[in-house]
Amino acid sequence: MSIASNIKGIAKGMSITLGEMFQPTEVENYPDGPGPTRGAVLQERFRGAHVLQRDENGLEKCVACFLCAAACPANCIYIEAAENTAEKRISSAERYAKVYNIDYNRCIFCGYCVEACPTDAITHGHGFELASLNATTLVMRKEDMLVKNVGLPGAVASGADSVK
Ligand code: SF4
Ligand code: SF4
Repeated sequence: MSIASNIKGIAKGMSITLGEMFQPTEVENYPDGPGPTRGAVLQERFRGAHVLQRDENGLEKCVACFLCAAACPANCIYIEAAENTAEKRISSAERYAKVYNIDYNRCIFCGYCVEACPTDAITHGHGFELASLNATTLVMRKEDMLVKNVGLPGAVASGADSVK
């Protein structure tokens, strides 16, 4: 390769560098930025920590069908089902999830559980600050994931309304 072509290559590379130097700087000011994400910018379809949803009457959408657990390739969803009663109705179907845990030590955020759910009970939220030095804190319980009961008519306190 000739000296001239080398110089031409270097000049081309430097022109790109110099051009970028005068572009406006775009950085995310996380964690010192404003808003609930503290400056982090998340795309709409970002798969963060899971959220367990309620229906329009405030009842839990999860009907304990176990399809999400069956679809999970990491085997990190643990569910215990219980029957609804006339006195204590938690979901609109026969059963509800008395226990619903996701082990984030194992979850790979593939979204299969969300796709498998027939009632749209489980979705991905935008929670991303999950790192921990203590692995035991990475097992999220239903109480950590369930959307807050905002006093809708059919909602019955399930003991899981204190967190979200
Ligand atoms: S996102 Fe994937 S790995 Fe995580 S709980 Fe759902 S199915 Fe399992
Ligand atoms: S989250 Fe959905 S798929 Fe999983 S047990 Fe509940 S209703 Fe079934």
